This record gives sequence, structure tokens and C-alpha cells, in this order.
Amino acid sequence: MCGIVGLVGQKNNVVEAVVYGLEGLEYRGYDSAGIACTDSGDTKIICAKACGELSALKAQLHEQPISGLAAIGHTRWATHGRVTLENVHPHFDCSGTIALVHNGIIENYHELGTMLKAEGHIFKSDTDSEVVAHLLESILDRGLSPKKALHELVSRLDGAYALVIMLGGRSDELLFVRKRSPLCLGLGKNKSAVVSDLVAFDADIEKYAIIPDQTYGFLRMGEVEAYSFDGFSAEITYTPHIHNASSRDRGGHAHYMLKEIYEQKGIVHRIVTALNDLGDEWIKGLGYTSASQASESLKKLTHVDLIACGTSYYAASLGAFFLRDIAGIDTSVTRASEFAYNPILMKNRLYGVVSQSGETADTLEVLRALKRQEQSVFGIVNVEKSSMAREADGFFAMHAGPEISVASTKSFTAQVVVFYWLALKIAHSKGLITLQQLQASEAELLWCGNKIEETLENNKSSIEHDAAWFAQYKTCLFLGRQESFILAAEAALKLKELAYIFVEAFPSGELKHGPLALVDQNMPVVVFSSADPLVYQKIVSNAQEVKARGGRLVVFGFQDQTALLNLAEKSYCVSGFSSYTQCDSLLGPLCMVAAMHYLVYSIAKVLERPIDKPRNLAKSVTVE
Ligand code: GLU
Repeated sequence: MCGIVGLVGQKNNVVEAVVYGLEGLEYRGYDSAGIACTDSGDTKIICAKACGELSALKAQLHEQPISGLAAIGHTRWATHGRVTLENVHPHFDCSGTIALVHNGIIENYHELGTMLKAEGHIFKSDTDSEVVAHLLESILDRGLSPKKALHELVSRLDGAYALVIMLGGRSDELLFVRKRSPLCLGLGKNKSAVVSDLVAFDADIEKYAIIPDQTYGFLRMGEVEAYSFDGFSAEITYTPHIHNASSRDRGGHAHYMLKEIYEQKGIVHRIVTALNDLGDEWIKGLGYTSASQASESLKKLTHVDLIACGTSYYAASLGAFFLRDIAGIDTSVTRASEFAYNPILMKNRLYGVVSQSGETADTLEVLRALKRQEQSVFGIVNVEKSSMAREADGFFAMHAGPEISVASTKSFTAQVVVFYWLALKIAHSKGLITLQQLQASEAELLWCGNKIEETLENNKSSIEHDAAWFAQYKTCLFLGRQESFILAAEAALKLKELAYIFVEAFPSGELKHGPLALVDQNMPVVVFSSADPLVYQKIVSNAQEVKARGGRLVVFGFQDQTALLNLAEKSYCVSGFSSYTQCDSLLGPLCMVAAMHYLVYSIAKVLERPIDKPRNLAKSVTVE
């Protein structure tokens, strides 16, 4: 969601480098892009803007090149004001000598705008962001130094914002501000950079730092001056930067999503190995500092509250099954945006936040609210340098590698694996299972890891064949029961976001309490089976109910579930894993996940959807 790249360079190379940075940020989702640059001695700021894809901006720059020694660029994901050229960033003050790019939301933009308009400022856009340029102009007009001006600026802005500001003619520095929206600094050969995501850096950047929250400052060639919002010097800690250009390519696949579906092949093994490498330190992931504290707290732990959004919410919902069934912990899962503003805080309760990016604003806000109330919060995140990883008491890395496609695939799988491993570790540390049982269960997890690939390959050609059949329908019903309902719900989310097909997911037992009224010969009903024999029998009955109403039944099932598979018009099967296999049936969804992803991918492809960047959506949702 939205992206910022700001550069101070030595040669006239900054515009291309900003474009390179914006290309890296494209995956996050955006609707328009713009760039501005300035040269020394010339107070003019020149600018290029385009709605739509970055390619439109690049074509414009090709026709009418711009150059300078400092440049700022932005990919916008509109929150305030439609997708029009006037609303594309950078935004300017009245004199045209202040240009800025902004990620986030200025909550008090209306009051500030009204005041500034009364002072005579002329606004050109409908965005909340433009207000900041005029506010800074009015502060600087009072003769304040840039440092004092920034100090006052942040005291007057409410909301979440990452800002990079350019002053006309001052090509030797950029101003930056960070509050509750990510921003990082990079220093390197011939250039200094300030970006909203590390992927925007190029190979010239030698070291980088995450800007602490509530910090403002100045970026110059090889040098940073930073202050916390209270005006004191802020400490910036650098890490060496290793440029990973391969995370930007599709590895020969038509889409990042396909690349990422295939990357699920070895993922279980990689995650389990990495987590086991933590050794006794694994308890730090939960936020415990010593083995004795962990063992005492885990014995008393009665409740875990998991908080997440979107796909992470469904991964956490499977996690709740694992924590309850394996570790005996009552676990609830709440969507971050629905988390109570005044939660009932109880003793012996642990909170967990789950997010691929570690920057999901809704989840991050819950984490911060809980920390203010001195609650223990652990995280499960993919991006190890993210805000969530830093602000939680401890975290487990998902080890999924960079995920570019907006729709999460391998991250979901990775989160599920981390939860299963975690449930086993907690169960073992509470004395509920022996070391031998733990190792046997881990072996089952690894065995299912191999099934991910096998199930995808075994069903690939039928999926490709069936995709056109699915694509003709405008609505679908997805059903499952217990753990398989969670997979049905995640699959429904995927089909909505990628194919724009309206899908409702229901626990199959709910069918006769309402949704059955929708079933006729025009309604594909996709049933995700369970490997639990008891649950399976009930799913068969629900499938019969669909069949009896002429519904077009499709089944994701397990080998030997012939009663169910025979009812289906189309079916995809996990071989070697039946209702009678000696493997935890809770791992069933893991075996089916990549085949499910491939089905959704194939339908979206038939419909010629923009698979990696579905309309209106963004990868990392950094606004509440
Ligand atoms: N709120 C700003 C706008 O709508 C910034 C959006 C963004 O973060 O891209 O222009």
C-alpha cells in the first residue's frame, strides 16, 4: 500500500534510481505515481505525474525527461480524494517551493485545511496530504528554521504519516518525518535514500536503518540528522544492506503469485529447521526472558487471544485449533479492526499478533494498545525488521521469504506451520506430550509438507481444465467443517480478491439454516473435506443436501473418501492421506492449500484479471 522513495545523489542519476525504487514498491498496490526533483541553486521543483500503472509515468519521463540532484517519488493508494491527476503526489505549497510525498492519513486535515484556506492558501487537490505542504509553508513563512518548522509541524498533525519533503533548490537534503507509518534510511555510494520499504533500495545502498517511530530529521549525502518528536537527538542504528535483486523477479513464472505458490514446496522443512535452530531460545519468541519464567507462565496460561486481518486471520484461526487441541489452551481469534477498544484484561492470558508484513496498521494499533496496558504480546511475522517484530515482546519469523503478489499464498502456509510447531512446543513444555511424541508430530508435519507439492502436481491438469468452467459463474458457495471450514473461508477470500467472483464460505452444518436456499443448478458448491472420520461423515451428509437440490458439487477430499468424491462433479484429491491415516487430521488443510491456490490462480487467469495486483487492493495495509 503506497510507497515513498526519496534520494539525494551526487550525479544526475536520482530520477532513474527513484523509478527503480518505485518499481520495487509496485507490489504493494497503488493507483497512481509521481516524481519531483530539484537542482542546486534553482528554486524550481519539476514534477511528473500519471494515473494508473508506473509504466504510464515511465513513458511520460521518456517523452519529457526530468533530472536533478535530489528527487522524491510516490506510488499512491488513494484514501482521501479520487484517483485523479490533481491528487497524485508529490503535493506542493502555494509558492511551488515545497514538495512532499505522504503515506498514511492526516486525521485533522479538515480543520487544518479550513484554517489554511482562511489564511489564503490555495489548494489544488482533494487529498489530506496537501494540507501538510501548506502548513509547512505557513510555518516557514514565519521565519522558523527547517528544524524548528518540522518540530512545530509534527505537533500540529494528527494521524499516521510518513513524509518526505523537498525544498526547492536545496538539492543537498531531504526532510523526513515518521509517525506510525514505516520509513527507512539508506546510505551508500553516491547516494542517500529514504524509503517506505527496504525493497526500494538499490545495490548502491551499503547500510540501512529503520527510522524510530515519532522521529523527524534531515537526510544528506552520507549523513543523517534525526530528532525524536520531543526535540532530542534520535539514535539511528544501521545494519549492512545486502541487495536481493532476485526477490524482484518472477523466476520464470508468468506471475509472482505462481512463483510463490511453487515456493511452498520446501517451505515446511525450511521453517521447522529454522525454528528448531532456536533451541532453548524459542521461549523468547513468546516474550519470555528465562526458561523458569516460561515454564511457570505456560503452566498457568489459560487463554491465548490471536489478533490478525485477512489471510493472517484465517491462519490464526487454524492456529487456534492447534493451540486448543494440542496444547490445551483456550484460544480466541479476533479481526484486528473488530478488537474491542476496551478489552477485558485478565490474568494468565497471552496475546498474539499475526501479519505477513508486520506493518498491518489495524493489527499494529491493537499491539500498541495492548502494550500501553502492559499486556504480553508475541508476534508471528514474515518481515523480521518490521514494527511488529520490534514492538512485540517476542516474535517468531515465518521464514517465507519476500512475498510480492498482493494475495498471500506462501505466507498463509508459513503461518500455519509456525502455529503447529508452536502448539507442539507449548504442549511439550506443559508436559502434555513427551519428546518422542513431539518428534513424531513434527515428522507428520514434514510429511504433510511433501503433500503440498504432490497434491498440486497430481491435480494440476484437472484444475487447469476446470478453471474455465468455474469462471462462467458469478457466485459460489464454499463449505467446510471445523478445520476445513477455515480453508474454505480462506479460499473464498482468495477467489473474491483475485477473480472478483462473489463467494460465501459457510460451515457446512449451517447450510440448512439458510444458505441452502441459494443452491440450484447454477451454484457451484465447493466442499473442503476433513480427514477426521467423524467430521467427514457429517460433511458427506451436507454434500448430499447440496446434491439433492441440484447444486454443482466440487470436492477437495482425501484418498479413500469415495462416498464424498463420487458425489462430486469435479474433485481434487490428496493421495496417501485418508480418514484412516495415522496423521493429525488438523494438518489436512495444509496438504490441500497449494492446489486450492492453483485453482484460484487458474480461474483468475481465465478471467484475465491482474493477478499480482488485484484492483483496489494493496499488499501491506498500512492505514487503519
Ligand atoms: N492519504 C493520502 C492520499 O490519499 C496518502 C495515501 C497513501 O498513503 O498513498 O493521497
